[in-house]
Amino acid sequence: MKYRVLKRCGGLKVSEIALGCEGLIGKTQDEFQAMVDRALELGINFFDMYTPNPEFRDSMGAALRGRRDKAVLQGHICPVWENGQYLRTRDLKKTKEAFEDQLKRLGTDYLDVGMIHYVDSESDFEKVFGGEIIEYCRMLRKQGKIHAIGLSSHNPAVARKAVETGLVDVLMFSVNAAYDMQPASEDCNDLWNLENYREGMGMDPERKALYELCERENVAIDVMKVFGGGDMLDEKLSPFGVAFTEYQCMEYCLTRPGVAAIMAGCHSIEEIEKLASYYEAAPEEKDYSTVLAGMEKFKFYGNCMYCGHCAPCSVGIHVADVNKYLNLALAQGEVPETAADHYRLLGHHASECVGCGKCENNCPFGVGIIDKMKKAVKVFGY
Ligand code: SF4
Ligand code: SF4
Repeated sequence: MKYRVLKRCGGLKVSEIALGCEGLIGKTQDEFQAMVDRALELGINFFDMYTPNPEFRDSMGAALRGRRDKAVLQGHICPVWENGQYLRTRDLKKTKEAFEDQLKRLGTDYLDVGMIHYVDSESDFEKVFGGEIIEYCRMLRKQGKIHAIGLSSHNPAVARKAVETGLVDVLMFSVNAAYDMQPASEDCNDLWNLENYREGMGMDPERKALYELCERENVAIDVMKVFGGGDMLDEKLSPFGVAFTEYQCMEYCLTRPGVAAIMAGCHSIEEIEKLASYYEAAPEEKDYSTVLAGMEKFKFYGNCMYCGHCAPCSVGIHVADVNKYLNLALAQGEVPETAADHYRLLGHHASECVGCGKCENNCPFGVGIIDKMKKAVKVFGY
């Protein structure tokens, strides 16, 4: 397992592969325990718990008894359980009761991340960030009942506004190569409507800007919908008309700027093991460029997709990282401190490029890398 740091959460380390909760709902306690045990054995330490289902919370509390410190828990604020059903609310009284219920059932006095649940519309954003909910979250953070404030969303415009408030430490966002082509929408159903995937689409600039903003502001993204609810794995349901492998979907998400972890729901120990086997997979099994670069219908060509194919550079430059920090700086219109610092820490810099062209021959997306290196020298000074 590999780990990444939630930079605004006291340097907390989370596993790149994290477990969503949907596959655990409805399991017996023995099954639940066995799945959590296996996840922890494999090094998975990050768990999302969006559901307010009381049985789920009790089971999770029991599964982690005596080892709370081994898990990074992301619980959601605003889902409530009413009449045996999940419900999203912005009612403060209900939200408070549901939060306290969560801590009690989990047998803990804090959540690592308190995730404000599912904000997709501008009006809901105004309600949450202009009202009692965000104040409640701030108070919880001050009291140490949550260590970080998170927000879950499918809408890049709303997510960006939220990140720009400076109050959000973690963003849970729907990311995969298909959704990354879709413009902002308040209706998440637009993401899985095949009619919305039209010829000539490529990476949506607003989504790209959101990931870069998160990277720049140290807001950690944890990814939901890695497999698009399974659509990405089915050639009939994928807008690409080609089935991605699980490993390609995972690699795609883990190479987006700002991403700390991917959250995947697993229904069995075998599914957890399959996710963890990502690290043993051959590079060609993970290589999403084989699907995206050759697309005639969609236009990923010409853009750096951070796939890493250009490596190794003749002089050791990590071209994908240079491109990433360059894009952060260009998007901002000035060099942000974080990008300057990350760039400084690279082992080799763009000024060392000898223009041999080896990387360009290897780039499946036809990126003009030599020009990019020259631009990076102009922007960063070396
Ligand atoms: S420059 Fe090309 S090969 Fe290198 S990371 Fe970007 S897209 Fe991939
Ligand atoms: S052209 Fe520059 S960046 Fe590309 S391999 Fe050669 S030295 Fe490295």
